[in-house]
Amino acid sequence: MNISFYHTALRSKVPFKPADAKRVKIYTCGPTVYHFAHIGNFRTYVFEDLLRRTLKYLGYGVEQVMNITDVDDKTIRESVAKGVTLDEYVEPYTKAFFADLKELGIEDVEHNPKATDYIPQMIEMIEKLIVKGVAYAPGDGSVYFSISKFPTYGALSNLKLDELKEGGSDRINSDEYDKETVSDFVLWKGYDETRDGKVFWESPWGKGRPGWHLECSAMANSLLGETIDIHCGAVDNIFPHHENEIAQSEACNGHPFVRHWLHSEHLIVDGKKMSKSLGNFYTLRDLLNKGYHGREVRYLLLSVHYKTQLNFTMEGLEAARHALQRIDDFVQRLQGYPHEGQKDLTAHLEEVDKQFKQALADDLGISQALSLLFDLIREVNSLIDSEQLKSARAVLKLLKSWNSILNFIHFDFSIDIPDEIQQALIDRNSARARKDWQEADRLRDLIKNAGFVIEDSPTGPILKKH
Ligand code: AMP
Ligand code: ZN
Repeated sequence: MNISFYHTALRSKVPFKPADAKRVKIYTCGPTVYHFAHIGNFRTYVFEDLLRRTLKYLGYGVEQVMNITDVDDKTIRESVAKGVTLDEYVEPYTKAFFADLKELGIEDVEHNPKATDYIPQMIEMIEKLIVKGVAYAPGDGSVYFSISKFPTYGALSNLKLDELKEGGSDRINSDEYDKETVSDFVLWKGYDETRDGKVFWESPWGKGRPGWHLECSAMANSLLGETIDIHCGAVDNIFPHHENEIAQSEACNGHPFVRHWLHSEHLIVDGKKMSKSLGNFYTLRDLLNKGYHGREVRYLLLSVHYKTQLNFTMEGLEAARHALQRIDDFVQRLQGYPHEGQKDLTAHLEEVDKQFKQALADDLGISQALSLLFDLIREVNSLIDSEQLKSARAVLKLLKSWNSILNFIHFDFSIDIPDEIQQALIDRNSARARKDWQEADRLRDLIKNAGFVIEDSPTGPILKKH
């Protein structure tokens, strides 16, 4: 099957061909663990999960790296402020990140390197860059990359270097910098006791620590080799981070760094990028505490094409909940279908599966893929109504295979309801009977927060998992 993805550097959709179909090498920039990740970050990780799962569904092998940035300006600043070691500071956020990935149904990747485990490789890369004359140590304890020595600098983001350089400072010593400024960037940052506390490593240039951009180049190079098939992130990573990764890696190795660049658009709130600095963010925990479930958030983040900005609203999350409810009802109807009607869907299901694959192979066309799912639900529901459907199992089998990509379809509805929740339902019914609405609402919320919804049935209210 032909696969094509939008390529950031080429600014168009182009065929995707990995060097080796058995092992597509993917590098994804991971979190900086100075705080809980927010659901904007998770939009990007869910997009990367869709990419990985799609490639596997289409028959490719995948080897993926998602790094953990445990040392940068922010983790050092926060650990010094709290008076704890860097390791102590980042540990709970790193754990929380992996727990959130699980909650969102994001598949484990092959490698999750921590930047602090790759310091020797980073130092080695800087030494090579100095030997090649593209990096220099001006004597302030730091080492910088000289962008004027790398003629294609700016190609990924289509920067007009000559125009932008004017007015910018010559070099920048911080991991994060103004997007309008193009300057030499830091590869090794000299130690400053007040700022860095006890965080430093010895190097040929004295005590210090790596620049953020270099970390990804060194980990990609060490784990995946000099040229990788796909590198992803969100659009804010394009400049300066990915531009700098290209410059370091290619100047060091003399080979192309990445064959295909993919970037997702942002999750936005009221027209602005969700970000920690703006304070307009929700963590996954915030939403779980409001009674939502990880797979509802996954559905929401997955359901808008990655090249389109996703406007986050609570209504959107409610709509995701309803969409999943429809899918759950459908699966339960299939599981309980007791007939063997006349209508054999075998050929039709094969055709729909082909279309599903084609939709995703065409730049991860999730909207078309979801339309196929809901069209199928509509068609099969009417066959169930008229008892014409021949094999519910065949439909379930297709849903299971699609779920290796979507990972939000539930098949196990045998639920284990804790005694106190069952009791809360009984108490709520009595409260309603005596018109004690306040108590009834309190019990409804208690039930909801425990992860269940109350639904009316012919035999009275019942509990379901949401
Ligand atoms: P950080 O931990 O800040 O390095 O961000 C981790 C990842 O999340 C990076 O790939 C960012 O580009 C991405 N990201 C940050 N904010 C958003 C957002 N609002 N929407 C989508 N992705 C984002
Ligand atoms: Zn990176």
